[in-house]
Amino acid sequence: RAKTSGRHAARLFEPQMQAEADARLELERGLRLALQRDELTLYFQPQVDAEGRLAGAEALLRWRNPTLGMLLPGGFIHIAEETGLIHALGQWVVDAACSQLREWHRLGLADGIHLSINVSPWQIAQPQFADDLAARVLAAGIEPSALTLELTESALLGDFDAARQTLQQLSDAGFRLSLDDFGTGYSSLASLQQLPLDELKIDRSFVVALQPDSTNPLAGFIVDIGKRLGMITVAEGVETDEQRTMLAALGCNLMQGHFIGMPMPAEEFQHWLAACHATNAAPLSAP
Ligand code: C2E
Ligand code: MG
Ligand code: MG
Ligand code: MG
Repeated sequence: RAKTSGRHAARLFEPQMQAEADARLELERGLRLALQRDELTLYFQPQVDAEGRLAGAEALLRWRNPTLGMLLPGGFIHIAEETGLIHALGQWVVDAACSQLREWHRLGLADGIHLSINVSPWQIAQPQFADDLAARVLAAGIEPSALTLELTESALLGDFDAARQTLQQLSDAGFRLSLDDFGTGYSSLASLQQLPLDELKIDRSFVVALQPDSTNPLAGFIVDIGKRLGMITVAEGVETDEQRTMLAALGCNLMQGHFIGMPMPAEEFQHWLAACHATNAAPLSAP
């Protein structure tokens, strides 16, 4: 068949491409099973304020693949999105985050602590998303205001009005909304102003670019935009004490990155919660 359907089809059968197609199919099959087999897990990466007080954590998905080991989202989220599995996966993430937060509340460890959850553009594009999410979270006994939904600018690329409506519904339901990887996409300042966003996440690339001698670093502009629009700013990918100090001087509200803490299993983050329990959690309102 390859020979009769032209050059492109023939190339599909080159051994390396065949191997890639097989691996992909295997991953897709595995991902379907992962949900049933309890192979997914959430890691938690701490977010602290300029004084180092814990404000919460970002939940980051991990897949304990039986043959490939621990997989990062970059290795499988796109497959979930292409196959439609992202909706079941996204629901799993919400349920897992809520039950974890409830457990920490039960232990008296999570007063004022919030969790951030990453949401795929495909989820935002579902008309029922906001209603489903609110019902799911309330059924789990969690206040929507304890959750921050992180979306990327690509969620705004399709039907902007539909996305804005969904975000408004989510905001009305009490969820906090954060624009992830801000500055790397194409959202206009005008669109920022039209959305009920609570938080801007400064992309890692702007944090890496911070140099002691740099005048007018872009990270500073983003902090200023956030302030003007009444939003919290969060820096991601903070890897050095120098970056942390500079971001604090620029007025960035929260920091997240390897210098603060790595993404870690729930048991480990619980130690963070226990340690900060004596001090107050950082308040999450715009200055
Ligand atoms: P993101 O939301 O921008 O998350 C930040 C990523 O940067 C995480 O990668 C985190 O481990 C990594 N990171 C944190 N601190 C540092 C640092 O100091 N230096 C460096 N170099 N990296 C740092 P991760 O966990 O591999 O996740 C990658 C992306 O996958 C996330 O980017 C997010 O877009 C997506 N993702 C993660 N969990 C979920 C999920 O539950 N659902 C969906 N739809 N997407 C998810
Ligand atoms: Mg994120
Ligand atoms: Mg990010
Ligand atoms: Mg990022």
